[in-house]
Amino acid sequence: ALAAQVRTFDGEGRTADGQRVELLANVGDPADARAAAEARAEGVGLFRTEFQFLDRDEAPTHDEQVAAYRQVLAQFPGRKVVIRTLDAGADKPMPFLTSDSEANPALGVRGLRTAVEHPEVLDAQLTAIADAAAAESATVWVMAPMVATVDEAEQFVTTCAKHGLDTAGVMVEVPSAALLSGPILARAAFASIGTNDLTQYTMAADRLLGAVAELSDPWQPAVLALVAATCAGGAQQGRPVGVCGEAAASPALAVVLVGLGVSSLSMTSRALPDVAAVLAATTGDECRRLAQLALAAPSAADARAVVRAGLPVLAELG
Ligand code: PEP
Ligand code: MG
Repeated sequence: ALAAQVRTFDGEGRTADGQRVELLANVGDPADARAAAEARAEGVGLFRTEFQFLDRDEAPTHDEQVAAYRQVLAQFPGRKVVIRTLDAGADKPMPFLTSDSEANPALGVRGLRTAVEHPEVLDAQLTAIADAAAAESATVWVMAPMVATVDEAEQFVTTCAKHGLDTAGVMVEVPSAALLSGPILARAAFASIGTNDLTQYTMAADRLLGAVAELSDPWQPAVLALVAATCAGGAQQGRPVGVCGEAAASPALAVVLVGLGVSSLSMTSRALPDVAAVLAATTGDECRRLAQLALAAPSAADARAVVRAGLPVLAELG
């Protein structure tokens, strides 16, 4: 039984019938990376690089960036670390990059969009990432936040290649990217679904506003349909699709995401043991069956209820 013992994660995610699901950690700084390594995360699925840029008047220097990235990479020798380029704007304003006079910052110049006016910041970051990658043994993948078009994906991949970063992917957190995941993944090496923003933009509901929390729920069947669409694009192009939003940390939702075709889940490292335990108790067929039930549900509440009812193993979690 799952209960009556302190669950730990043994370092390799799989379903009950042995289907591999990579279980990775989201990290924001070197301390998170240490905690993730202790929790036996298989690697890092989302390294948010904002921490060293926030509360500053200018971007950190090359040497500062290399040092910060190396501290995270050093925790995962021989493992995969997905570094996300700077996601400035919206809830993460940065004076040297983003304007404070936008009426709708979540719909404004944020994420990869800042590279249009300020390509030098992205170039400097990719140079630092490439240098850090060369000095450590971790396998470095890079990805861009807030990609909305095929052209943006292509330009990002081309820019990364100029820096010798050959495994370049995109976050899928805008509905347009989910719908065009086929052509996007014809160019990008992988996709990682950011369910926090994907939910916000699909439901037109601010992710930070309590009054619309019911709408801003990754169980919304429309959000799940866009996850399915992204996976279909990945399957068509033979490219992996992961999830790195908070949804991946929910054991019941993790089952649904795997059933929709996601091959890796990246989460706060505290969530790894429970997600691993529920997947290990559920077959791939069962994941797919529950995913179809959730997709067909008329509401987020119904989707959650029908999946939870199909997962008695959840009751054994502490
Ligand atoms: C997301 O949007 O789901 C995501 C992982 O990115 P962030 O939470 O940093 O916006
Ligand atoms: Mg996001």
